[in-house]
Amino acid sequence: KDTFNKIAAGEVVERPSSVVKELVENSIDAGSKEIHVEIQGGGEELIRVLDKGEGIEPDDMLKAFMPHATSKIMTADDLFRIRTMGFRGEALSSISSVSKVLMRSRTEGSDGREVYIEGGDLKYEKYSPMDRGTLIEVRDLFYNVPARKKFLKTRSKEAGTIGEILSKIAIAYPEISFSLVSDGKTLLKTYGTGDQKDVIRQVYTKKIQENTFPFHEEFDSLRISGFVGNEEISRGNRSQQSIFVNRRLVQSRTITVAAENAFRAFATVSRFPFLILNIDILPEIIDVNIHPQKAEIKFEDDRHIFKVVFDTIHKTMAEGLK
Ligand code: ADP
Ligand code: MG
Repeated sequence: KDTFNKIAAGEVVERPSSVVKELVENSIDAGSKEIHVEIQGGGEELIRVLDKGEGIEPDDMLKAFMPHATSKIMTADDLFRIRTMGFRGEALSSISSVSKVLMRSRTEGSDGREVYIEGGDLKYEKYSPMDRGTLIEVRDLFYNVPARKKFLKTRSKEAGTIGEILSKIAIAYPEISFSLVSDGKTLLKTYGTGDQKDVIRQVYTKKIQENTFPFHEEFDSLRISGFVGNEEISRGNRSQQSIFVNRRLVQSRTITVAAENAFRAFATVSRFPFLILNIDILPEIIDVNIHPQKAEIKFEDDRHIFKVVFDTIHKTMAEGLK
C-alpha cells in the first residue's frame, strides 16, 4: 500500500510547483479571498499555504488525507459538471505520502485542529487555536523517494516555475489577493481588485500592456474575454500565453492553433502573440478529467470553439491596429 501511494503520488505531484498548484486550488475551492504562499529552497524544503477560507471540520481533517477522499463530488453525475478546481481527492493523500505535512484548520463554528503526517503516517493530532481558515506546511518533499528528488531542477528554477504558475492562477482569479514569498523575498503580490487588467500589470512588465488589446464577446452560453497582442515580448515561444477554461489553466491545441492562426495576419515579429484567453462555458460540455494534473482539455464541439476563438482574435487585432 505504501509503495502504491508513492507511485500514485508521482502522477499528481511531479515537482514543488505541482504541490503549490494543488494546495492553492484547495484554498480557492474553500472560498478564500486571500491566499499567502511561502517557499524555501525552491519549495523542496518548505511550501506553506495560508488561506482564510471555510476551513475543515475537525472530524474531517484526517479523512482529507485518505486516497480518493473528496468533499466536492457527491454523485457520478457531478463528474460531468465540475465547478470546483479539485475533484479527485488525490492531492492531499499523494502529497502527504512523499513529504512531512502539517495542517491546521478551523471552521466558523468549531475548534481548530492540527495534524502532522510524515510519509503518510499520522504522527500526532491536537487541538490548536487559529483564525478561520487553513494553514498547510509541506516540508522535505520527496525525502522518502530519492529517485524523484533527482529529477528536480535547481532550487531557483523550481522557485521560478512556482512563480509562473501562481501568477497565472492570480490572473484567473483577480478577486483574490495572492502573495508569494521565496526565501524571504516577495516574488508576487496581487490585491484582489477583481479587475484582470490590474493583475496583468502586476505580473508582466509595463511594455506588455502597450500593444495589447482587450476583448470580450458572448456567444449563446459561451463567454470569451482576455488580452492579445504585442508579440515583441513573447520571446518567440508560448511562455506568455495563458488559456483559462472556466478559470482553470489548461492546454488546448484547438484554442492555441485558432488564436495563432488568427494572429498570423497581423504578426510582424513573431507568430506567437502575448495572449490571455478566458473561456467560460457550460461545464457539461467539456472534459477536464483526462489528465492526472487536469491540464489538457477536450471540448464536445471543437469546431465551434475554434471558430469563436479565431473570429474573436481576428476582429480584436484588426480593430486594435486601426
Ligand atoms: P480534492 O480537492 O480533489 O477534493 P484534495 O486531496 O485536494 O482533494 O483535498 C481533499 C479534501 O480536503 C477536499 O475535498 C476538502 O474537503 C479538504 N481541503 C483541502 N484543503 C482545504 C482548504 N485549504 N480549505 C478547506 N478544505 C480543504
Ligand atoms: Mg484539491
